[in-house]
This record gives sequence, C-alpha cells and structure tokens, in this order.
Amino acid sequence: TSANLPPIAQAAIARRNAPAIVSNGGAHQTYGQLLNSAALVHRRLVERSAVELEGQRIAFLCPPSFDFVAVQWGAWAARSIAVPLCTTHPPAELEYTLRDSGAAVVVYHPSFEDRLEPLREKLASVAWISLEDVMAAEDADETVSNAADLLSEEDEAAWKDRGALMIYTSGTTGKPKAVLTTHGNIQAQVKSLAEAWKFTPQDRILNVLPLHHVHALSMPLWSGATCEFMPFHAAHVWERWMSEKRDLTAFMAVPTVYAKLLQYYDTMSPTQQAAARDACRQFRLMVSGSAALPDGLFRKWEAVSGHQLLERYGMTEIGMALGNPYAGPRIPGTVGKPFPGVGISIRDASGADALADADGTVSGDLFVSGPQVFKEYWNKPEATQKELSADGWFRTGDLVSRDANGVHRILGRASVDIIKSSGYKISAPEIEREAMSCPIVKDIAVLGLKNEEYGETIAAMVVFAEGEEEANVATLKTFLKDKLAHYKIPRRYLAVKELPRNVMGKVNKKQLVGYFDDQQ
Ligand code: ATP
Ligand code: MG
Repeated sequence: TSANLPPIAQAAIARRNAPAIVSNGGAHQTYGQLLNSAALVHRRLVERSAVELEGQRIAFLCPPSFDFVAVQWGAWAARSIAVPLCTTHPPAELEYTLRDSGAAVVVYHPSFEDRLEPLREKLASVAWISLEDVMAAEDADETVSNAADLLSEEDEAAWKDRGALMIYTSGTTGKPKAVLTTHGNIQAQVKSLAEAWKFTPQDRILNVLPLHHVHALSMPLWSGATCEFMPFHAAHVWERWMSEKRDLTAFMAVPTVYAKLLQYYDTMSPTQQAAARDACRQFRLMVSGSAALPDGLFRKWEAVSGHQLLERYGMTEIGMALGNPYAGPRIPGTVGKPFPGVGISIRDASGADALADADGTVSGDLFVSGPQVFKEYWNKPEATQKELSADGWFRTGDLVSRDANGVHRILGRASVDIIKSSGYKISAPEIEREAMSCPIVKDIAVLGLKNEEYGETIAAMVVFAEGEEEANVATLKTFLKDKLAHYKIPRRYLAVKELPRNVMGKVNKKQLVGYFDDQQ
C-alpha cells in the first residue's frame, strides 16, 4: 500500500538529520526518525485495521512526546483523520470520545494499557495497537532505516480538502465539540503563524500544555524548529530555563501557567531570582492565549522576565485569528490585529456590519473567514450550518471591539459573559479586569445568576490574597465603586481557595452557577 507524506512533514525530508523532538529532558530525535516512525505506524495501521483507512478516524493516546507526533503523521500517511485523546481522561470520557468520533483504531502508549482495558469489550469493533508493538517489528532495524522512503509526496490538490485532524474544543461552555480540520486548513494556519512569528529551523520551543486541544505543534515542526516537551510544573520549568543550555527561543502558554510561574518565582531567594530573570533572556518570543490575560499579570511578567507577553486570540475552529504585533509595543488587554490571511468582520445583532461609534470604535459579534477556518463539526451538521455560513464566514460566539487604530479587544462570550441585569447588558470580563487590579484579588470569575427582579444578578467567585472574607468583600466593593457604574458591581460573592479551571486554564461559567445555588 502506498503511503502519503503528510504535507506538514514535507519539509522534514530535506532536514532528516536536524533535531525535531526532545521529550522529558532526553536526547533529541531527528526529523528522519520522525518520518521513519510515522512510516512504521502507517505499516501497522494497514496490517491491523480491518477497514479502508482513508477518511477513517485513528484515535491515539500518547503523552506529548515524539510518539504523539509519529502517530499523528502515521495516521496522515494512511490518509486517515488523527484524533488525539486526552491523557487525563478516565475510561468513561475516553469511551465518549471514541464513540463520538467513531474511531476504528486506537493507537496507545503502553503506559495506558490499564486505562483502556475496560473499553476493549465495550468497543468490540475497534482495533487496539500498542506503540510497543509498532516500534518492535521483527525487522525493525532495517525498516527503521528505510521506512521514510516508503512515503511519497502528493500534489496539493489531492490533500488540500482531506480531513486531517479532529480536535475537541476545550469544553468551556458545554460538552466538547469535535472540530474537523483539513490538511488545507492546517497548512494555512501554520503558514500564517510562522510568518507572523518569524519561525525558523533555529527555533526551539518548550511545550508544557496537553496537546489534545491545540494544533500549535504543527507550526514549529513545519518550520523545521525543535519541539521540546515537558509536563507543566512551575519548579521544573524554571529549572529547565535556568539550566546551562540557554537554548530555548519560544514559549507559548495560557495565563494560569504564567501566574503559577510567578508564584514560584516569589518563593525563590534573591540570588535565584536574579538567575531566573537572566534565564528569560534566551527567549525571543513568549505568547499567551486561550483566555484573557489580566493586565497585572502582563505587567508583573514584564518586570520579571523583560518580555511583554504577546497575547493572541484563537479557537479550535479557526486556529489563531488575532494577535499583538511581533515587533512593536504590545498593549495589555488587547489581542491586536488579524494574522496574515485571516478575514475579520464585526457584526450587529441583525447580522449587518456593525457601525462605528463617535470615537471610531466598532463593537459586535466576531466573524472569521479564510482558508484556516475548519470544515465542520463532526456529526453535527446542524451546528455546522448554524455557525458556518455557505460563504465561509464562521460565527465565533465571541464579542469584540476594534478601536480606530484597528486594535481588537475580546469582550467575552456572547453566551455566558454578557449579563443582562436591570435592563443593562454588562460585560463580565470588564468587571473581572477591574477587580483584578484590586491588590487583594488573586483571581475572579464574574457571572450572571437568574433573578426574578433584575433578570440576572451579578455574582463573583473570588480568590482573595489573604484575610477575612467579609472584610475582603467590603474592600473589593468599595474599590469597584470608584471604577465601575453602580449597576456593574457584583451583588453576590463567594470566596474560594482556587477557581475550578479546565486543562486549558479556563473557567466554565455555566458550572459555576451551581456553586452559588449551594450557598442559598
Ligand atoms: P467550548 O467551545 O467547548 O465551549 P472553548 O471555546 O473554550 O470551549 P477553545 O476552542 O479551546 O474552546 O477556545 C476558544 C475560545 O477561547 C474563544 O472562543 C474565546 O472565547 C477564548 N479565548 C481564546 N483566546 C482568548 C484571549 N486571548 N482572550 C480571551 N478569550 C480568549
Ligand atoms: Mg468554543
């Protein structure tokens, strides 16, 4: 059977000896090894799968590592759709994903054997392939040195519209939705970002996030850069940065990761802190996204690291859409301008282009178009039709504003962040931003609770720095009264030790409502 070289991997042919992946501080593995392992995965898929592989979903359960990429590329070589599974999901959640995606094959790292055991009987038609089995072929040595030669290039026309990846959304507003992207979508996303952020083979990026929610990985690999993986732990990340090597160039994470790194920094001795600050000089780019970056965090990170975090806005469905400039000042609280090739339109409730107000600001629902935009929600034709119009515009569900300079701000999600109270439409993120500038507030989520009198009451779940709850709430209220109109001041407060955030550091506000019910 012929195997196709995935478009993302085409550049790898020319740099077989270059370092591609470093997992958990080990030695690097090259692009050549990646191609070979992908070819081995492809071979096993062909041998072990009872069904035609083209268009088939190949689910895989691997920690972020060399194996993760090898399996993804191997599935692509078979013209299949790669479905990365969440490594922390219990069997029931894995079962949901496998059923929802209709996966024919599961490729797994041997360390997950026990977790998958209960599913084997339930999902009788699935073929299970252990990575141990893939890599330990009888003729492995010979195959490993030749496998990549089995991969052949294809014309763009052949792969462009082929389904490549099924990523589940972060599940911030409900059950995660499966987003199907094509090779053409991924290629467009990758090129746009590599251009905006000037990626080259000299780059070395440290990834600490789980990979089942992002496609961030393809961009550095397409650029020929080296990807290093390590599970997030603030102490380990600082230790890696402060090691002698000083060879990292880029770091991309979510706001909570930066907040935890700063918390750890605060526990270091002055000598260690000086070394930590110095270690940050190895980077040329530090990015934050997936959730709003509080101004205070932007400022403190700059004071410690010397880097202005580049805040960007993206979505599973569209890749990255907006970002602060690579060169030039980055403005806290904003997500800058569209990335190359991304079409942006801001519309009012009737669907028409929103009109500018007196100072030239345009606000409304954000729509995005371009070759980056996904193909469909898997098995959800109605949802696809509702959010993605025939002419290619996707309704993001986020509300934004654009100032006269063309700089965008995210105002929140239309579904949960706009609180309707006493006839006003109130932006929860605006209140959160003001509250975060209050010195006693460490973290906050603002939401609406159903209320007969007001429509919705504004509620706040808060993490206070220290002190007694009642006094803290009073201090926060007084603080907010100076900054916000009276109708925007939260009426109900719940102090907690930590906000419940998902793996991407996001708060599910629909879930938070339940915590307030318990209080009554
Ligand atoms: P679900 O769709 O399952 O509810 P989700 O929307 O959180 O989950 P993702 O696709 O991972 O899943 O996240 C995209 C969303 O994250 C965007 O729609 C936006 O609301 C939010 N987001 C991304 N970047 C930013 C940012 N810089 N500032 C504020 N919000 C952001
Ligand atoms: Mg979403």
